[in-house]
Amino acid sequence: MVPCRYTRRTVGVIADAIAPISVGSTTNDRESIHPRRNSAQLIEEEVPSMLLTGKDLLAVANANNFAVPAFNVSDYAMLNGLFAISEERESPFIIAIHPDELSHIGVDILPAIIQKAHRSSVPVAIHLDHGATYEQVLTAIQSGFTSVMLDASLTPFDDNVAIVKKVADAAHAVGLSVEAELGTIGKLDEEAEEGGEIIYTVPADAVRFVELTGTDSLAIAIGTSHGLYPANLKPELKIDLLKEIKALLPIPLVLHGGSGNPDEEIAKAVANGINKINISSDIKASYHKKMREVLADLSMREPNTIQPPCIEAMKVTAAEKIDLFQAAGKARLY
Ligand SMILES: [Zn+2]
Repeated sequence: MVPCRYTRRTVGVIADAIAPISVGSTTNDRESIHPRRNSAQLIEEEVPSMLLTGKDLLAVANANNFAVPAFNVSDYAMLNGLFAISEERESPFIIAIHPDELSHIGVDILPAIIQKAHRSSVPVAIHLDHGATYEQVLTAIQSGFTSVMLDASLTPFDDNVAIVKKVADAAHAVGLSVEAELGTIGKLDEEAEEGGEIIYTVPADAVRFVELTGTDSLAIAIGTSHGLYPANLKPELKIDLLKEIKALLPIPLVLHGGSGNPDEEIAKAVANGINKINISSDIKASYHKKMREVLADLSMREPNTIQPPCIEAMKVTAAEKIDLFQAAGKARLY
């Protein structure tokens, strides 16, 4: 078990102290419906919380050669589905929230996510994805995120170093961890995050960058792009480049833009030192593809009838990623 900063309290009820429900009673007596919990003896136990920092979460992945899925989410029903599938597959996971997603869902969601993470049966980190400014990172830290990314990969090397070091110093001061990015990941469609053209990460620069900034993990550019690949474009990962970087820099390495890459390439990336893979477009595409089918029935109106089949479709895709990343069952390692 990796030491963590949080503990949670669970309240259990000693079963013998609960009066049996009187099945088949025709009275209106409340006790015929509800067990007499007022007579139950409450017990409390301290159990470790599963809300971890990104650093603690990824250290286990690095030591055991798997990748933790980081699912981008800005919708509460989808969030519930991601907890459910990760618990079913016994997979650690990262709740990744991009600043645009955070402005959509609002920071008030954080207390609910934190509560869910405390009670989760699998390790979880709450991660700011692609923070762009120092202020965004501080807001995330104050809101209860346990991991932050500062992405200044589109700026010159020295500027990237300066802002990441500033963020790393702040995050480390309060026991949290940082992800940065070196090299640039491409952008495939208008719905995708900013990325520009792919500029591959230079191994020697990556080593120097980590030394200068103290970042805990590093997103590298080895041939992925944000968004979904059009039919005429073939993704290709440079596994040799990954091997070269990992040999020089044995910290957790991160792959962004993993949606749409062939499974064999992703599997090779995991086998060769990628410990976190961001999944955004794939789960959202599955969810909304199913929603379009469901909404073809014009009588559909209620979220609690429209969303469940969409959540199930999203869970199928999420489970495929968990398995591909060798993360299933790995919750037991924490
Ligand atoms: Zn990204």
